[in-house]
Amino acid sequence: MGLVVQKYGGSSVADAASIRRVARRIVDTFNAGSQVAVVVSAMGDTTDELIDLAQQVSPKPPARELDMLLTAGERMSMALLAMAISDLGCEARSFTGSQAGVITDSAHGRARIIDVTPGRIQAALGDGAIPIVAGFQGVSQDTKDITTLGRGGSDTTAVALAAALQADVCEIYTDVDGIYSADPRIVPAARKLDRVTYEEMLELAASGAKVLHLRCVEYARRFNLPIHVRSSFSTNEGTWVVSDARDEDDVEQPIISGVAHDLNDAKVTVVGVPDRPGEAAAIFGTLADAGINLDMIVQNVSVADTGLTDVTFTCPRGDGERALSALRAVQATIGFADLRYDDAIAKVSLVGAGMRSHPGVSATFFRALADAGVNVEMISTSEIRISVVTRESQVTRAVGAVHTAFGLDSGSEAVVYGGTGR
Ligand code: ADP
Ligand code: ASP
Ligand code: MG
Repeated sequence: MGLVVQKYGGSSVADAASIRRVARRIVDTFNAGSQVAVVVSAMGDTTDELIDLAQQVSPKPPARELDMLLTAGERMSMALLAMAISDLGCEARSFTGSQAGVITDSAHGRARIIDVTPGRIQAALGDGAIPIVAGFQGVSQDTKDITTLGRGGSDTTAVALAAALQADVCEIYTDVDGIYSADPRIVPAARKLDRVTYEEMLELAASGAKVLHLRCVEYARRFNLPIHVRSSFSTNEGTWVVSDARDEDDVEQPIISGVAHDLNDAKVTVVGVPDRPGEAAAIFGTLADAGINLDMIVQNVSVADTGLTDVTFTCPRGDGERALSALRAVQATIGFADLRYDDAIAKVSLVGAGMRSHPGVSATFFRALADAGVNVEMISTSEIRISVVTRESQVTRAVGAVHTAFGLDSGSEAVVYGGTGR
């Protein structure tokens, strides 16, 4: 019956009763004749609580030590899950990321998987045991230190492991029934998608739809591995993330797959930049040296009589302070007048592969925002996405209005089974 990798997120293993419920589900799959390897996240909000705890001890904890601390969350749940499975009469063996052969680079807090050498997982499977792997963690190839893959990274552990084991499918179990046309926590009328292509899911994940970690989608696409996102609280069929190749019978592919929102960005404006060659290179070179990932960038037309312009960009809120201090350090050399920082923003994105060939999508999008009284501060686009920056306080209204304008509202209310959405 093949090999399946199942990943259970934090809300699915939030307490002892949930862990027992998940154990039952795994044993049922195993008893039905499949080989099963499991990846598990930390219980409930454990990772957030550990971060809070670290901050009480030190406002800027060393990245190596923070990773060591955070990986403890997944170690707890993997051992507890193995115990619960063994209580149901099956053999389960838990493994840390390092023991499971998850080799990463040494970028603490955002490590990339370089290779997966799952010898011990294969051996466990060969012995008829169920391996349980701690998600979100690995070991650095160079330093041999323990690393984490970034928030939400257990999804990527699961897909990378599934690819290395040549599994038939990677099942991602979470607290909603699948991937919806918007986050069901803010759009109750969101519609569950039966399938979504890697390409569209990449844009949705990059635009803030945290139901899947961006890198897990990149990985799945590279290995052409199907992902099935579904709820651990129901037996409903979820959403399949599959190859971009169009289905023969799928004549009517929807134009829009969904609306995503992101509250993790901040906006920085460099005010009064001399309008001459080399200034943008100096600004963005400084930010690159500080290791800051930028998203949107806008430069105003310069005011003719001053010869000065403003440059605005967005970056993750967590990098905001570093971006400001890096720029302040070169203010005199670059010669800009001032810096402005604003983190009360939201990014709202419309994603759909059909956008390529359907005119009028932007017109409907901006009309919907205007009618809802939502002000647009920045705009960026890709071939299959339109994103705007707006006020954080308007995000629910903005996403709801766009969702309705594209006819995505469903007749029923989406179920959110658990989790705090933290
Ligand atoms: P887990 O703990 O299982 O990894 P996450 O909290 O990371 O779960 O991801 C599931 C959550 O993602 C949902 O509860 C939902 O609020 C959010 N989400 C955001 N966008 C979407 C979307 N388009 N479809 C489904 N869920 C979404
Ligand atoms: N526990 C980690 C987090 O909260 C990893 C994950 O859940 O995927 O980000
Ligand atoms: Mg997640």
